[in-house]
Amino acid sequence: VLVAVISFAWIQGQLVNGFLELYSRLLSHFGPQGWWPADTAFEVIVGAILTQNTSWRNVERAIGNLKKEGVLNPEALHDIEELALALLIRPAGYFNVKARRIKAFMEFLYGAYEGGLETMFRQPLLPLRDQLLGISGIGPETADSILLYAGQRPVFVIDAYTTRILSRHHLIDGRMGYGEIQSVVMSHVPPDVYVYQEYHALLVRLGKIHCRRTPDCLGCPVEA
Ligand code: SF4
Repeated sequence: VLVAVISFAWIQGQLVNGFLELYSRLLSHFGPQGWWPADTAFEVIVGAILTQNTSWRNVERAIGNLKKEGVLNPEALHDIEELALALLIRPAGYFNVKARRIKAFMEFLYGAYEGGLETMFRQPLLPLRDQLLGISGIGPETADSILLYAGQRPVFVIDAYTTRILSRHHLIDGRMGYGEIQSVVMSHVPPDVYVYQEYHALLVRLGKIHCRRTPDCLGCPVEA
């Protein structure tokens, strides 16, 4: 632990020369991550809601239940009773809340776009983002995950790993809010869906392996 702390103290003085260098180091070290792990855009959306406050392993079990029941499609999730849905997604935790959120998204999708995901994703980016944010239980991280990974739209997803890593390297101020951090990142990284997807996934990978609450800087690709 002492070595990690000393190493962390040292790295605080060493700035990565910017967002693009950080991306390039992570990509060459870890390789492409190929996110989001899902078969369809609709599965990405459901996964983005289910992953709130839980591990991906739990989400996979919930998604597996939905697939087994044959309900992982807009029509079936629009029709299913909220309680029945809650029982199916139980492994993801907070299942009553998440069932309500998925049903709220379905109500929105059918109310505004007659259930048509493609029609929804053809809308201009910012008004669509505002619409998603208007759905109960969908915050900026979930909305942006839906836009980036299901809709293939160039918006950067900010999460706890992103904030921690970028602030530890003084690329952002850790006290900034979601919108401010997103604007800083997007003003330094040109809008490109592939890069935004990979960059976010790579930051999550780094945050899980090295840049944890107590950073493990030895051997971290950012330290080199
Ligand atoms: S673990 Fe890596 S990313 Fe985190 S502070 Fe240390 S060198 Fe930086």
